Amino acid sequence: MNKINWNFNNTYSCLSDSFKEKINPIPVINPELILLNNTLADDLNLDFSKVTNKELSEIFSGNLLPNGSNSIAQAYAGHQFGHFTMLGDGRAVLLGEHVSKKNKKYDIQLKGSGKTAFSRNGDGRAALGPMLREYIISEAMNYLNIPTTRSLAVVKTGENVLREKNLQGAILTRVASSHIRVGTFQYVSARQNFEELNILFNYTLERHYPEIKNTENPALKLLERLIGKQCDLIINWMRVGFIHGVMNTDNMTVSGETIDYGPCAFMDIYDPKTVFSSIDKMGRYAYCNQPAIAKWNLARFAECLIPLIDKDSNKAIEIATRKIDSFEKQYEEKWMIMMKNKLGLFNSEEGDRSLILDLLTWMHQKKADYTNTFCNLMDLGPKTKVIYNDVNFVNWKKRWKERVLKNDNTIKKSIDLMRKNNPLFIPRNHIVEEVLASAEQGSLEPLKNFLDILKDPYTEQQNTSKFQSPPNSNKKYETFCGT
Ligand code: AMP
Ligand code: MG
Repeated sequence: MNKINWNFNNTYSCLSDSFKEKINPIPVINPELILLNNTLADDLNLDFSKVTNKELSEIFSGNLLPNGSNSIAQAYAGHQFGHFTMLGDGRAVLLGEHVSKKNKKYDIQLKGSGKTAFSRNGDGRAALGPMLREYIISEAMNYLNIPTTRSLAVVKTGENVLREKNLQGAILTRVASSHIRVGTFQYVSARQNFEELNILFNYTLERHYPEIKNTENPALKLLERLIGKQCDLIINWMRVGFIHGVMNTDNMTVSGETIDYGPCAFMDIYDPKTVFSSIDKMGRYAYCNQPAIAKWNLARFAECLIPLIDKDSNKAIEIATRKIDSFEKQYEEKWMIMMKNKLGLFNSEEGDRSLILDLLTWMHQKKADYTNTFCNLMDLGPKTKVIYNDVNFVNWKKRWKERVLKNDNTIKKSIDLMRKNNPLFIPRNHIVEEVLASAEQGSLEPLKNFLDILKDPYTEQQNTSKFQSPPNSNKKYETFCGT
């Protein structure tokens, strides 16, 4: 496989055996490449032009290992819906770390690659629908300018996977700046081995935060960094109405990238309590709970770092608690900035907060579409919506326009700010389902067309009203785990 210019420099697989299982992907019968992300391949400096589709199918199914790879399943743990469990890659393998021309390092992982030591009762496989879904939504997130893992390829395996019924099997190639999770720290921490904790800690600093290595208290700095990164991430999710759906600690990266697109979905109608995941009966991971859960997860991360923060554990707990408690204030401040950006507001004026809250309350009461309401303010939404003739909205809009005039900046700058922060296109649930259904029937054109639209979510495009409209039916959208 010298025909592809892979540039592997595998460091995680060099860590001791307690961090991973050395395992190859389990071969599949009849792999068929159905999606390849050429734009991402270019970013990674990967040239596939000298290889046939057949060879690519063999590679992205795990049947053929790329030169220089060193395939492993990573060990991790996690709090799932609040309960601690030992986990690990039960249906994924890390092929290795590829270094791009810009000297950036990327994990190349196959998801759905067969059983590992961490599979528990699972079959190690994945179904086509969920892998395509992860491809669509992770790529959409990337083009919405939200940190995320990426999707390089999807291969059909030619094998069935048994869920409630028989489904077509598939493997997704996931690209991430790393797969180190809060749960990876929890795994090491639960083993109560200080040396291993130190190894993971130093590895993480080297890989993601080298600039804090020589600071006075690097462990505390790492906590501070992750609080900042995760706060920014959640703010971005809230900005576009993204609901992750399964914010377990094993699904939170230390790089600050969104990971694991399982039961996630985008909100159409604005309702802070929105939950899509069928198993999230209590609404633990509802839209409005995401910041609180992020803080909860960060507290679990802080617990792992206690021995590294100070030898005196009481002192370490006190310092870490103070840091964790700074999350709310930071979130509040960043949330205000984000909402002001969505409304094109510069500087701070009295009444800004109530102006924002009044709009959200109106959207909630009137069941307005979250994305399209901001599009309406930019004069870019679908034109026929009578909801925006509502007298309360018209009055609110008057107040907003008066406030915009108080900006210490030009109207053009204000519009530019809104355009950068309010997407016209999100992967709307009913469209996602529609293109997935076609793909499962063998027709990939609708999915590819949808991906093209999602590549430019902040720009007007031709003939796209279908993609900007919320669903006609009021039927509750439900997503499923165990995919
Ligand atoms: P997830 O819900 O994808 O975050 O997965 C949670 C845990 O369950 C991880 O340890 C996965 O590797 C494992 N898992 C999920 N699906 C399967 C499967 N089909 N076979 C084996 N392990 C799985
Ligand atoms: Mg996961």
